[in-house]
Amino acid sequence: MTNAESHPSLPMPSVADASLPWVLKVAVKGPFLEPLDYAFPEDVELKQPDKAWVGCRVEVPFRQKTQVALVVGVAQSEYDTHKIKPIVRKIDSEPIVSVADLALWQWVSDYYQSPLGEVIQAALPKRLRAGEPVLLEGELQWTLSSEGKLALAQISRKTPAQHALAQAFLQAASALGRMECQAITGSWRKWLTQWQASGWVLAEAGPCWQQVPCSPRPAHRLNSQQSAAVNALDEHVKAEAGFVAFLLQGITGSGKTEVYLAMTELALQQHKQVLILVPEIGLTPQMIDRFSGYLQRPIAVLHSGMNDRERHCAWQAVRSGQISVLLGTRSAIFTPFANLGLCIIDEEHDTSYKQQDGVRYSARDLLVRRAKQWQVPVILGSATPSLESLWNVQQQRYRLLRLAVRAGGAQLPKLRLIDIRGEKIQQGVGVKLKQAMQQHLQAGNQVLLFLNRRGFAPVLMCHGCGWQAQCPSCEANMTLHQGPKHHYLLCHHCAEQMAVPKICPQCGSHELHTLGQGTERLEEAMQQAFPAYQVLRIDRDSTRLKGQMAELTRQAQEGEAQILIGTQMLAKGHHFPKVTLVGILEIDQGLFSCDYRATERMAQLILQVAGRAGREAEQGEVLLQTHHPHHPLLVRLVEQGYEAFAQEAVIERQKAQLPPMHYQCLVRCEAYDAEDAKVFLHALKAGLVQQAQAGMANDLSFWGPVSAPMLRRQGRYRYQLMLSSSNRAQLHKHLQQMLPHIYQSPLARKVRWSLDVDPQEMF
Ligand code: ADP
Ligand code: ZN
Ligand code: ZN
Repeated sequence: MTNAESHPSLPMPSVADASLPWVLKVAVKGPFLEPLDYAFPEDVELKQPDKAWVGCRVEVPFRQKTQVALVVGVAQSEYDTHKIKPIVRKIDSEPIVSVADLALWQWVSDYYQSPLGEVIQAALPKRLRAGEPVLLEGELQWTLSSEGKLALAQISRKTPAQHALAQAFLQAASALGRMECQAITGSWRKWLTQWQASGWVLAEAGPCWQQVPCSPRPAHRLNSQQSAAVNALDEHVKAEAGFVAFLLQGITGSGKTEVYLAMTELALQQHKQVLILVPEIGLTPQMIDRFSGYLQRPIAVLHSGMNDRERHCAWQAVRSGQISVLLGTRSAIFTPFANLGLCIIDEEHDTSYKQQDGVRYSARDLLVRRAKQWQVPVILGSATPSLESLWNVQQQRYRLLRLAVRAGGAQLPKLRLIDIRGEKIQQGVGVKLKQAMQQHLQAGNQVLLFLNRRGFAPVLMCHGCGWQAQCPSCEANMTLHQGPKHHYLLCHHCAEQMAVPKICPQCGSHELHTLGQGTERLEEAMQQAFPAYQVLRIDRDSTRLKGQMAELTRQAQEGEAQILIGTQMLAKGHHFPKVTLVGILEIDQGLFSCDYRATERMAQLILQVAGRAGREAEQGEVLLQTHHPHHPLLVRLVEQGYEAFAQEAVIERQKAQLPPMHYQCLVRCEAYDAEDAKVFLHALKAGLVQQAQAGMANDLSFWGPVSAPMLRRQGRYRYQLMLSSSNRAQLHKHLQQMLPHIYQSPLARKVRWSLDVDPQEMF
């Protein structure tokens, strides 16, 4: 099934040499590139290496404390075993992670140049890292014994509550739990205690997950393009052809989700499990309902809003095969499956798939890797695929499936650039956009305004002397926020909060002005400009509390507000039937960023937001305000669409020797003393140059060390060194050689450093 057994770097028992003792290889959390050796407990007599230890958790002594860690191998030690400490105890009686899963985690460790112990930190749910038993039982539930069936049938109607409960048990197809019993009578506990004492009902622990009954959702009749996509997968599976990667490129509203559902159904019919990754903000309750409603079976969900027990439960239900579908965000990629048959990733271009600290993995790339290892198909879906995936199609590594029309007959919206140079702008909205808003609102439709900046205003400035409110710890302005009672200043980079000064701290002037606008100010301005309509703002601040996001999107969907204002939270995935006009404000900065990916992100965001318009009967309209109406990138995007834009972008990347044709690794370093960070990176570079000259690589180029786009953040100075090469293997080999030196370097202890393989952002 997999090639895991032959994975070279997983330490497995080698040929026995009677003179060498057997030890456990344990992946301890810490800056160790190799697993540590521990002796077997004294009461374990080992004649033969026991593979059954691999994948079990153990508690080990580590630096005056103990730690829960995972056994990743059993091997013979060449060291003096008197120095090897025995483990404290074995936690699991059998492995909780398969050798195949371990091989994938080891691959992550190698590829992202991170210690295996750190990868396991990211991969295992917190409760398991804390040593909790892997089996997680749910609440009690009850079934009838054979005597119970006879006895309960005799219960008379004269005790109505008891009779009702008895009838429920007699008619139930499966065990009944607390919730179901409670729904029948408040006195259920009393009766059940009696029946249990008589041996009429049997109690047992149910599964940890709750089976939420969901009203069935009929499937749509797939249109011809949707069917073609599903058939392509079906044929591949029937041919038992193992791994394949499909890029499902479907315009917004083309019914990609419906295709995922049909594909999932295919895998389920084959009794296989399905892993579906969605972006953090794409995993809405509506999405979960859509899956469980269509599939009519419990699905497991994993996202950051769940508590530790819920995560553990989902993990275990999927691992044991009790649940066949897992819908999750980035970290769900690590969940072990009993019988994985299909991998799907929605909005594959989304940046939330890249982990930005610790082990900086890309869940998308890892999913493809995982599908390859397990020899199963993977589907990457997007309206605006990443240049990486388009390049993979060009290179014939991925197969392209297209959905070029909107499902259900809706039209794609018309996209237009609005030249706002010299136009009168009121809090970000120009005259033409305002007129268009008036028309759409009067026609009884909804309008969505996109502004990717939360807060009230990004700058607070003194009119007297030019002073600006700056974060004391970052090289950044503080954003003015409205707050429930009074305004306050907030740094969006380190969350530092401050009161708004009454007078300028520099010159004492009372004239403090705000510059620019965030969503809060836009909301206020629109409420004044359109007093007859309701305005609704959806951003990180208005959805901070649990359940708020669901409530606000419900209000937006049901048309309780006519003007919707939002950041990128509102831009993705949502289906607002009555939105016919989308206004896009202030995207120009994407055209002039120092990050070469900024234009790609800008194009994706524009089309995602635009995709919210006209998703049903009425044709939508999208107005894009800009000061650069003749900018070639914008013009191409608007007139020729994403394809043309992306094709041109790929050519530019090729010319500039950038990803996806070239491979990069970014070494970031930060320190309270800027000199320390610079010295560290210069030393690292010198070491790499020396290695390269020694003949290791002739194809390695450096950019830097340079200061990061934001030089100071949370009090630390930040520098970076970019390495790139047209040869991925060479780049990696180079880094691997260097890594032990970095770990041992005394300089490394004075700074914070990290390696980012395939970096997605510079900040
Ligand atoms: P996407 O994920 O591509 O943006 P969705 O799957 O959310 O698109 O579909 C957009 C809308 O079209 C949804 O309301 C969905 O129910 C509807 N839809 C999808 N496929 C069909 C179909 N074959 N016939 C009719 N309506 C469809
Ligand atoms: Zn001043
Ligand atoms: Zn700050």
